[in-house]
Amino acid sequence: MSLAERLVLPADVREAIVAHAREARPNECCGLIAGRARTASRVFRVPNVADDPPRRYRMEDVSVYRALTAMGEALEEDADGHVGEPLAIYHSHVSSAPYPSPTDREYAQWPYSFYVLVSLRSGESEVRAYRILNNHPGAEKSVLEVDIVYVKT
Ligand SMILES: [Zn+2]
Repeated sequence: MSLAERLVLPADVREAIVAHAREARPNECCGLIAGRARTASRVFRVPNVADDPPRRYRMEDVSVYRALTAMGEALEEDADGHVGEPLAIYHSHVSSAPYPSPTDREYAQWPYSFYVLVSLRSGESEVRAYRILNNHPGAEKSVLEVDIVYVKT
């Protein structure tokens, strides 16, 4: 099985996470992206409860639970998968590159999730996607960039 792959990001999903990043500034924002078959469909904002939110993120547990519950209910009720399953975890960087920091890598616990980074360091928003993998217990996690395919909505 290869993990080299792509994430399909409809324009409205990209806009939603960039809007969240801009609103949260000077803090980092975070949240979950639902989707199916590597295609994102909906954004669930989650409060950032990190001690140092301009520089780090920690997702608030209750909101994560609620988002996952909403996705689960949608799966039961909606065979078309309009909401879908947990696909990605996103957060923003206010003034650094859209790349997982050492803390981000340490916090990343879901090898099957995409990690989407939004950077506002320049005037333009930069969005990148990764897998963060723990290949060897105790070793540093590896980061693989994933191609993002943008589609119109
Ligand atoms: Zn980060």
